[in-house]
Amino acid sequence: MFIRKIGIDLGTCNSLVFISKKGVVLQEPSVVAVTLSENKILAVGEKAKEMIGRAPDTIRVYRPLKDGVIADYRVTQAMLRYFIEKIMGSFKFLRPDLLIGVPAGITSTEKRAVIEAGLAAGARQVFVAKEPILAAIGAGIPINSCSGNMVVDIGGGTAEVAVISLGGIVTVHSLRVAGDKLDSAIADYIKKKHNLAIGERTAEDIKIKIGTALPKKEEEFLEIRGRDLISGLPRNIKIFSNEVAEAINDPLNEIVRVIKNVLRETPPELSADIMDKGLVLTGGGALLRNIDELIAKAVGVPCFLAENPLLCVAKGTGMILENLDIYKKSIMSKK
Ligand code: ADP
Ligand code: MG
Repeated sequence: MFIRKIGIDLGTCNSLVFISKKGVVLQEPSVVAVTLSENKILAVGEKAKEMIGRAPDTIRVYRPLKDGVIADYRVTQAMLRYFIEKIMGSFKFLRPDLLIGVPAGITSTEKRAVIEAGLAAGARQVFVAKEPILAAIGAGIPINSCSGNMVVDIGGGTAEVAVISLGGIVTVHSLRVAGDKLDSAIADYIKKKHNLAIGERTAEDIKIKIGTALPKKEEEFLEIRGRDLISGLPRNIKIFSNEVAEAINDPLNEIVRVIKNVLRETPPELSADIMDKGLVLTGGGALLRNIDELIAKAVGVPCFLAENPLLCVAKGTGMILENLDIYKKSIMSKK
């Protein structure tokens, strides 16, 4: 297979790779495991994520990206190389062109770091595009139309709220409240209410399996195990979905508040378009049960889930790569 152009969603939580005519070919957690003594990379992606909370103190398991930007350059580059080699297979000598999604609020230094990391990982050329634009394209929004479109991308570390018109971002706000904050809110709640300490993986599991943004009549529950804060021993409890709704209420309200602020800062013609058409939710956080209903109620704007919210940014990179002439102006200059 001859792969020349690769789109990458380098997310804080998950990295995805898109190649032309094939779609999303790789989806792995943005996690690495490194030995502390020699600083050697032991595992990347799924294998590394399995080690979270289970590694001895000679191994550090962590995410090399923070808030959507590179926090550990060397390890991010190694992770990129791993992804590229994994999909290029024996054709890795053919240096591909990369299009990488970056947060809308990225600084030029941070952008340069992404480009350098891509080049060092073996790319011939690296282009970058803003994630809210990619998310919107991937969600099927006609971004080049002369009309306001709002996309709310809720990832792991950050949520980005953007209004797009004529192919560009008109208003954008980024907040460091997203999936991870929901997980820690769940862990805090269980600590306070049930005197039980749980790990971040368990908290995320609870959110994904039974979490809901709004309390519901029909409740689900999950049996979980944690460490009793008094005896120090393992103990099981049942946790109910409405408890999760209560636990994550504050961080969700924070997201709602920012959506309202962005609407307030949006020119009236465009906010009128958004009132008519509604806003679109992308990113893994969009999969939280009833989050669309919560936002629609609290903001007073119809709210829709993108199809496959986790894939939107990666699909957006693919659509740009396949239709460069249409989306040329959505790619940021290289330097
Ligand atoms: P990023 O772009 O930061 O890498 P993603 O868009 O991949 O983030 O989303 C990751 C976040 O989505 C994580 O916090 C994860 O827990 C959350 N998530 C994934 N699936 C679900 C689900 N079914 N319900 C609620 N949250 C989910
Ligand atoms: Mg993302």
